Amino acid sequence: MVDSHAHLADEAFSADVEAVVQRARAASLTGILCVVDASDPGELIRAHGVLPLWEGLRTTSGVHPHRAAPFAARPAEAAELADARIQAEPLVRAVGEVGLDYHYDFAPRDVQRAVFGEQVRLACDRGLPLVIHTRDADDDTIEVLTREGKGKARGVFHCFSGDARLARRALDLGFYVSFSGIVTFPKAGPVRDAAAIVPLDRLLVETDAPYLAPVPHRGTRNEPGRVGGVVRALAGIRGIDVQAVASASVANYCTLFAP
Ligand SMILES: [Zn+2]
Ligand SMILES: [Zn+2]
Repeated sequence: MVDSHAHLADEAFSADVEAVVQRARAASLTGILCVVDASDPGELIRAHGVLPLWEGLRTTSGVHPHRAAPFAARPAEAAELADARIQAEPLVRAVGEVGLDYHYDFAPRDVQRAVFGEQVRLACDRGLPLVIHTRDADDDTIEVLTREGKGKARGVFHCFSGDARLARRALDLGFYVSFSGIVTFPKAGPVRDAAAIVPLDRLLVETDAPYLAPVPHRGTRNEPGRVGGVVRALAGIRGIDVQAVASASVANYCTLFAP
């Protein structure tokens, strides 16, 4: 199994990240994509300590929509920060997480769109996939990807929380769709409907740790070793073998992030 999205350099793991990585290996994980925000100096420093812990770790570089506000005057600076890390860190495999979050609106929406657009262009210029975060912003996310990606943008809609309609639009753009512990939440019927229609060769799994622990661990700190709960839930939704979901998601991870 692989975890296509975990924030191992988050402060939540600073005391015991080695044990967290050990538990992931003991749970038969072969890879983890460690998401790092290029505008967070503390996280960047912690990432330097985390990435050498295991050869199965790869990383991303991008500015999260929650952190877009400081780039209002010059959105290109966000992409420049992300690019500086792409140039300096050989384990970077994607631009992300980037996108739009109109649920929390921590940054003005026009600034979020500008910062996102700059990073879509960066991913295309560098030939890297995008890790997309989108929440309550379906139309604008598709619009920015289409306009700035010019048919070249590829990647994954991470921690999918939309419905089957958004999943189809992501698939039509050529993107993968990644599901998290949300598929185990009682109220997540529309997300489960989306999980049922994504073809196996476009399906990814993630924990989004330290967030989104699956049932029955809900509310506690999540970690990559628990990605099996997502794999089992997806197998149940689709009525197929757990092993089929596990091996498809590993193959897709290798195709997209070329680890
Ligand atoms: Zn996210
Ligand atoms: Zn995330």
